[in-house]
Amino acid sequence: MSIEGICWINNRIVPLEQARISVMDHGLLYGDGVFEGIRFYSGKAFLLSAHLHRLFASAKAIALSMPCSTTELSQIIESLISRYKDQQGYLRLIVTRGTGSLGINPALCINPELIVIASPLQMSDEQAQSQGIRTIIASTRRIPADCLSPQIKSLNYLNAILARIEANHAGVEEALMLNQQGFITEGTVDNIFIVRSGALYTPPVIDGALAGITRKLIIEIATNAGIRTHEKTLASYDIYTADECFLSGTGAELIPVKEVDGRELAGCPGDIYKRVKQLFQDHIKAC
Ligand code: PMP
Repeated sequence: MSIEGICWINNRIVPLEQARISVMDHGLLYGDGVFEGIRFYSGKAFLLSAHLHRLFASAKAIALSMPCSTTELSQIIESLISRYKDQQGYLRLIVTRGTGSLGINPALCINPELIVIASPLQMSDEQAQSQGIRTIIASTRRIPADCLSPQIKSLNYLNAILARIEANHAGVEEALMLNQQGFITEGTVDNIFIVRSGALYTPPVIDGALAGITRKLIIEIATNAGIRTHEKTLASYDIYTADECFLSGTGAELIPVKEVDGRELAGCPGDIYKRVKQLFQDHIKAC
């Protein structure tokens, strides 16, 4: 399989298939590290400062000292984008605890490793974008915030992967995850919105979702366009009986949902989805 893309690693840019890290890196051994996903459009990283802010916050939360400043990281990103074959693509920023001997103790690692990948990313095909995806509500619950904060974008996504395996077994494209109380949190790698009587609803972050940067932007642009938007705890019932449902994320962008646990959502893609998607695309163009 050819791996398309380029990568910043060890202070230089190499073709992605030549990028290597040590098997003793604690990112690999223990999932000890953090990451961010950023899209770039027209040669410019989209919502860069919000993503860098979240990356540095994730690192701080796990007491990982960043190997560079935000200015240096912005420069790395700029040079990577300028060397990339296309004006648009996806950046994956990874900071691992670095190489150390066996044993989880982070103090065994002295030099954190910074990796930045630029590559294509298409999370959903054209058909999914135009006709919507099918989802299930997974039996795997989202890890509660008092065990591991969903705000930390860590290198361990096993909780979400278990839910995604359930989706695969059910033959659908994505899984929605509940919190310990049985309320909706988000998808495995995306936030969720529903529409009811023309208004948008999304669960509050406190219910167990990542504070998605795309989610925040959608709330802002929808509100500015006069669409009523509410952060409200949602139960399965609310999703099953919604007029519309869609998922949001950097990778996902905006994906309409056409089915949840076998219940068809009539309006897919719905009018509000189409409006918000247009506002989102207009916003990208204006940036
Ligand atoms: N939830 C989870 C668990 C995610 O991994 C992501 C992707 N970063 C999102 C939501 C969407 O967040 P954003 O819009 O910031 O990409």
